[in-house]
Amino acid sequence: MIDLHLHTNVSDGQDTPAELVERCRARGIRVLSVTDHDTTAGWDATAAASAAAGLTLVRGVEVTAVLDGRDVHVLGYFPPIRVPILDEFLAEQRQHRIRRVHAIADRLAALGKPIDVNAVLCSGARHAGRSIGRPRIADAMIAAGHVASRDQAFAEYLGTGCLAFVPRTGAPPEEVVELISSSGGLASLAHPGLLDRDDRLPSLIVAGMPAIEVFHSDHDAEMRARYQRLARASGLLMTGGSDYHGETAAHGQLGGVTLPEEHYQALRERLFA
Ligand code: AMP
Ligand code: FE
Ligand code: FE
Ligand code: ZN
Repeated sequence: MIDLHLHTNVSDGQDTPAELVERCRARGIRVLSVTDHDTTAGWDATAAASAAAGLTLVRGVEVTAVLDGRDVHVLGYFPPIRVPILDEFLAEQRQHRIRRVHAIADRLAALGKPIDVNAVLCSGARHAGRSIGRPRIADAMIAAGHVASRDQAFAEYLGTGCLAFVPRTGAPPEEVVELISSSGGLASLAHPGLLDRDDRLPSLIVAGMPAIEVFHSDHDAEMRARYQRLARASGLLMTGGSDYHGETAAHGQLGGVTLPEEHYQALRERLFA
């Protein structure tokens, strides 16, 4: 099985890179891509563990772009080389994330729901290049007794437009697509069915986006069929994966959604051409 959308605790997943690779191996996944949010800091550990387990790793990242005030997730897949401009851009993204955590914490304090910001900034893997986000704030709210679950934290405080929501600032998706391409990578619009901005596809394609995520845990059969048609009509490659964030996380489960072999082969040819 092939899964090209996975998260570790280097961003908001629960498993360490080594734990994730072991779970993939046990589940029968033989090609995997770790696509942590705005960081490639998990690449080396995942590559080492994958090689040891006899699995194939495609280096990936899920970059957060901003369009009309909303988050747009752009996946990037890369050959095994380090690209300084990509690393610099992602480091900047992570600085924005830290500033946003402070801003959200200030709002929460004003609402009488203070959290331990330092615990958020130090939570999870103690790892240079780790990216933090709202799920860790949700955990701090649970720890402080303000909410019972991550879902409740998002529904009442952290979700778009909620009480402690702070809009994100960042690059438009076209700019992210260009950055990924100029870094030798292949960009794919993540879970377009959730995003619901098909109107933007032509401009993303013009910017150099060669692929789109068709297979995803939050895509129903109708969405999958629609993006399959769209990909064929526009000559786009198809990517896919579970978006697994951990056994008990509210996301896809390992092996639940995988990428059919033929689409992986097409992607591989383009990526390693
Ligand atoms: P951020 O990276 O700070 O924008 O936070 C977005 C992340 O929060 C997404 O990548 C999801 O993994 C996670 N997320 C979004 N909605 C929820 C929810 N209702 N419950 C738990 N996690 C969520
Ligand atoms: Fe996430
Ligand atoms: Fe995403
Ligand atoms: Zn994801």
